[in-house]
Amino acid sequence: MPHSLFISDLHLCARRPRLTTRFLHFLEHDARHADALYILGDLFEYWAGDDDLDDAYNRDIVSALRRLSESDVRLYLMHGNRDFLMGERFAAACGGTWLTDPTLVDLHGTPTLLSHGDALCTADAEYQAFRLQVRNPAWQRDFLAQPLAERKRLIEALRERSEEQKQVKSYDIMDVTTQAVEQLLRAHGCPRLIHGHTHRPNHHRHMVDGHACERWVLPNWEEMQAENFHGGYLRCDPHGCARHRV
Ligand code: MN
Repeated sequence: MPHSLFISDLHLCARRPRLTTRFLHFLEHDARHADALYILGDLFEYWAGDDDLDDAYNRDIVSALRRLSESDVRLYLMHGNRDFLMGERFAAACGGTWLTDPTLVDLHGTPTLLSHGDALCTADAEYQAFRLQVRNPAWQRDFLAQPLAERKRLIEALRERSEEQKQVKSYDIMDVTTQAVEQLLRAHGCPRLIHGHTHRPNHHRHMVDGHACERWVLPNWEEMQAENFHGGYLRCDPHGCARHRV
C-alpha cells in the first residue's frame, strides 16, 4: 500500500553514536519501503551552515539520505528551530526538496498540514521574538558571513542558554497553544495536522467550527538506554496514520 513516513526532532550529532546508528538503520529498512519520507525539522542538533557538509559526520548522514532518495523514496525536508540554516546545498546533496512551514499536502487522499511546530508555541513570547530574528534573511546572511568555527561556538553558547531557560520555563509555555493550532487549521480549511518540536508525541482531536480535526505530534529521538528509547515515526496511508517505534 502507498504510504509516507514522518520524522522530526532527531537531534543528530557525532556525540550520539547509538542514535546515529538507529537513524541509519531506519533509513536502510523502514524508510526504504515508503513512497516518501518527510523530515519535519531538527534532524540535527544544530546546523551552522551548508559549508559544514564537508564534516565527516554530516557527510555520512547526507550520503545515507541520498541513498534513500536514489532508491525512489521521495525526500521532503522542513526546517526546525535548530537547523534552519540548512540550505539548497544541503537539499541538493541528499536529493531532498524543501517544504515551507506550514505546507498543505494531499497525503494519500487526505489534506494534511505539515509544520515543525515551534511557530505554534505562541505562549512563549521570548522564543517567538528570537524566532523572528533568526528567520530574517538579513540576520542569516550576516551570521553565515562569519567563519564556520565562530558560528559553531556561537550556536553552542546559544544552545546552552536555551537549555538553562528550559529549566525555568513552565511546562505549559513550551507547548503549542490550542488557539494557534485552531487558527492554523481554520486558515487551511481544517485539514489533518502533523508537527513535531514539542517532544510530546500524541494524537489530539480538535473541533474547529464544527469540523473534527486530528493532530499528530511526532516523537523526538533521544540517546538513552535502549529500553527507554522512544524515538519513532508516523506512518500514513490511505486508511490513516499510526505511530511506530524504531
Ligand atoms: Mn524543534
